Amino acid sequence: MNVVVCVKQIPDPAAPASLDPSFNLDRSGKLILDEADTYGVEMALQLVDAAGGGEVTIVSMGSAADVAGLRTALAMGAAKAVIVSDDGLRGTDALGTAKVLAAVIRRDLPDLVLCATESSDGYTGTLPVQLAELLGLPSITFAKAVRIADGTVRVDRQTEAGYDEVSAPLPAVVTVTAGVVEPRYASFKGIMAAKSKPVEILSVADLGLAGEVGSAGARQAITSVEAAEARQAGEKHVDDGDGAQKIVEFLESLKVL
Ligand SMILES: Cc1cc2nc3c(=O)[nH]c(=O)nc-3n(C[C@H](O)[C@H](O)[C@H](O)COP(=O)(O)OP(=O)(O)OC[C@H]3O[C@@H](n4cnc5c(N)ncnc54)[C@H](O)[C@@H]3O)c2cc1C
Repeated sequence: MNVVVCVKQIPDPAAPASLDPSFNLDRSGKLILDEADTYGVEMALQLVDAAGGGEVTIVSMGSAADVAGLRTALAMGAAKAVIVSDDGLRGTDALGTAKVLAAVIRRDLPDLVLCATESSDGYTGTLPVQLAELLGLPSITFAKAVRIADGTVRVDRQTEAGYDEVSAPLPAVVTVTAGVVEPRYASFKGIMAAKSKPVEILSVADLGLAGEVGSAGARQAITSVEAAEARQAGEKHVDDGDGAQKIVEFLESLKVL
């Protein structure tokens, strides 16, 4: 059973974020594995273990100047990583990113592709379904549990009311939520082993996508950015014996009662 996990390397959320002149997140500094993607890596490792064979491959698009985030996934137990890194990718939008990842994954189609539901930095939450469409594969989103049996992936799909049981034939693309599994900490042995695991760096030309991605191929552009409105302080009421009445009046004013 071979599983590809798409992971994004993001600027350290502990450091102050900054935008470049085109309003894109400045990713020129230290990059780490998006925590949202650690769940996909863990899920993939557990599925491969349960299948009794196969491997986990990490696929990413972004700067390869720092691959510490990919090494984290390799230290957890993934076998190898592929990153597409190219100046020609500047300005690539979500669909362009999906085209790049699809071109990598198509070279050696796995049994399953895992993504997180959405990234933690600048997120659209649209990439995994675009990827599935481009690969011509079924997709299931918001997985809170994933099982594989008899060439089928069975997913408990999180909903507002609980969960739905959904299945699809393999190969498929599945997005996992943060609750799907508890990501392991890399062991010292894992960290040492990750140093010699292969990280393949590809260019846009390697994938035959010149002209289709980058700002030239983008259909989305960030035209302005505004600071989010600061939260106003809430109203304080002291319960002088009429607290319950005040709550009822407030809820009535919102028309929820
Ligand atoms: C206007 C615009 C300009 C952009 N400019 C650039 C740029 O200059 N340089 C650049 O590198 N990117 C650029 N991007 C791409 C961006 O960084 C994201 O990779 C892309 O938008 C999809 O990420 P997301 O967070 O929206 O995906 P979401 O749909 O929120 O992410 C869900 C999951 O998809 C997978 N995923 C998302 N992004 C990647 C990725 N890059 N690699 C592997 N897996 C991934 C992960 O599993 C992730 O958890 C730009 C995007 C936009 C909209």
